[in-house]
Amino acid sequence: MSERMSAALSRIAASRTTAMTDRALALKAAGVDVIALSVGEPDFPTPPHVIAAAKAALDDGQTRYTAVPGTLALRQAAARHFARDLGIETEAERVLVSAGGKQSIFLALLATLDPGDEVLIPTPWWVSYPEIARFAGAAVVPLETTAANGFRITPDQLAAAITPRTRWLLLNSPGNPTGGVYAAADLAALGEVIAAHPQVLVLSDDIYAPLRYDGTAHATMAVVRPDLAERVLTVSGVSKSHAMTGFRIGVATGPAWLIAAMTRLQSHASGNAASLSQAAAVAAFDGPQDFLADWRLRLRERRDRVVAALNAIPGLSTPVPAGAFYCLVDAAPLAARFGGDDEALCLHLLDHGVALVAASAFAGPFGFRLSFAAADDTLDEALRRIAKALK
Ligand code: GLU
Repeated sequence: MSERMSAALSRIAASRTTAMTDRALALKAAGVDVIALSVGEPDFPTPPHVIAAAKAALDDGQTRYTAVPGTLALRQAAARHFARDLGIETEAERVLVSAGGKQSIFLALLATLDPGDEVLIPTPWWVSYPEIARFAGAAVVPLETTAANGFRITPDQLAAAITPRTRWLLLNSPGNPTGGVYAAADLAALGEVIAAHPQVLVLSDDIYAPLRYDGTAHATMAVVRPDLAERVLTVSGVSKSHAMTGFRIGVATGPAWLIAAMTRLQSHASGNAASLSQAAAVAAFDGPQDFLADWRLRLRERRDRVVAALNAIPGLSTPVPAGAFYCLVDAAPLAARFGGDDEALCLHLLDHGVALVAASAFAGPFGFRLSFAAADDTLDEALRRIAKALK
């Protein structure tokens, strides 16, 4: 049949975060009043010095291909970012620039996984992690976490899950969609387990590192366990920290062999990330970072008002996320009303003018994920609509 899909594609579904957002955008374009709290992106304007750098690059004629792994200027700026913001000492040669952190992860998994390999992913997980692993032919091994343990896996849980076929452990701290944060001591203990299994690589997705509300310093595996650095890939970017989601820039650093493998794959996929976006990202990494303190404060206030409002709605409960900008909302008491299908719950809420992502997309409890990276009055109106829809 002409429409036959590859076996690899047949193993995965479209991203449910982006699908809901596309739907909300289409409704909005058709004149429907929808508040989209589905996709994770800061509503703050991209900092003016970043916009100026993008415009200057355009005027300067930076409109051509760059080197596949990124411009030297951006790889150097990213290396400075890894050192300054995450504590990871690296060099430009071990940095790959891709079209978003998502592409970095896609490349890393596709470059290293074979059928039969296993990928350990803590749940609730970000929707694309398991899908990318399955696309690569690997078996996904979920490691369950709950609000009660701060959405963190334990060393015992990790040790019990590792087999000779385990290839990757995926870590995301602060986590999407849970907001869970691993402390240095947690990572040290997990690293101890990893150290005993040389076949296991660790992917540390640190994209939400600047967005922590608990006052603690960011901890990341490459720093906590330098002895494992040759097996750790760290992914970062400017999307969340600098409100640059549309620029599509992600950066990864890790061992030279892995960066080279990912670059080889990227050379046949997208080639380089967009030249103008790369110029803008240099300004983001090298420019002032002080606005972030203010963003963090405002996001923390929003978090607190949204958590309080959600917990006041009968049938909903949500813990206080320590980082990132999502509330993972448990709506289990309402499950019977929606036939146990939280996608149906989200369609009902969409009918009432709020776009959210079903928690099942993240292997979470019956419920939904709400992004609170939106203006205060937008959040208030959305919460009024949710309360009304669930009455
Ligand atoms: N990572 C963001 C989210 O979870 C952006 C959308 C996506 O790529 O999933 O909403």
